[in-house]
Amino acid sequence: MKSSEIRTAAVLGAGTMGHGIAHVLASVGIEARLFDIAAPAVEKGLASVRANLDKGVAKGKVTPADRDAALKRLSGVTQLDEAVRDVQLVIEAVPEKLDLKQSIFRDLGSKLGPDVLLATNTSSLPITQIASVTRHPERVVGMHFFNPVHIMKLLEVVETPTSSAAAVACAMELGVRMGKEPIRVKDAPGFASSRLGIAIGMEAIRMLESGVASASDIDKAMVLGYGFPIGPLKLTDVVGLDVRLAIAEYLARELGERFAPPKLLREMVARGDLGQKSGKGFYDWKE
Ligand code: NAD
Repeated sequence: MKSSEIRTAAVLGAGTMGHGIAHVLASVGIEARLFDIAAPAVEKGLASVRANLDKGVAKGKVTPADRDAALKRLSGVTQLDEAVRDVQLVIEAVPEKLDLKQSIFRDLGSKLGPDVLLATNTSSLPITQIASVTRHPERVVGMHFFNPVHIMKLLEVVETPTSSAAAVACAMELGVRMGKEPIRVKDAPGFASSRLGIAIGMEAIRMLESGVASASDIDKAMVLGYGFPIGPLKLTDVVGLDVRLAIAEYLARELGERFAPPKLLREMVARGDLGQKSGKGFYDWKE
């Protein structure tokens, strides 16, 4: 199991993350099969990759020849057997549901030999439990990419107690091959990124709740004072208040009350103020 030996990969789920992961794999010379149970999702994912590569060409970051070569290596598939035939790597990016991911990994375990690296892009679920249902759990790791995948540099490589050293090394090398800066993290709730991000995000909401400062001033404190590219409240708007609430509830269950979501967050989610996607969160996004 070596990153340099990965020639063909399947990406399962063609949504926000899946199409971005397939884009980057194809760009670094790997034949990428983008699989989804919904044919329109595959079409939309492929169109997004094309549009993002075109944008790269327009900005002078990608040559037309590299764009064309990447698109040649990318295909859309709606049959799982076809997607995973003769692959050396599978990256799963289906919705954040443990039972769904487990059923996929159970199925992959029976279809694929022990040398195929199986990675999940879950942002919070226990990877140990996903690995436990598959044959050869030692080849399962987390590869947690960030959105938009073709731009964001960070990759969290998550190792479970059963991950083999070879699988972790392969995922780290693959991250570098994909132009990312991989960090190695144990399978602990929230890994490194979500745990710290949610801690800061929840505290910022508590500060707003108790009237310490306005949303924009709290954000400004972190942007100008600490060099954050975006403040924690604006980031919560971009990610979605419902998404962050769900992660905070999970971390509170797993790690304790310090992650308990503030009342203000619950109220905003209950009235449908979900951030950018609903037009209103801590900021007004209607324009
Ligand atoms: P999404 O809803 O945009 O896409 C999921 C896709 O999976 C959909 O197209 C859906 O049709 C497809 N799907 C559903 N069941 C399937 C199955 N059985 N087989 C194949 N495809 C199936 O979701 P997303 O935002 O891309 O998130 C995917 C994963 O990545 C989740 O685990 C999420 O937690 C994680 N993640 C998301 C982000 C983010 O910013 N969106 C960042 C990091 C990690």
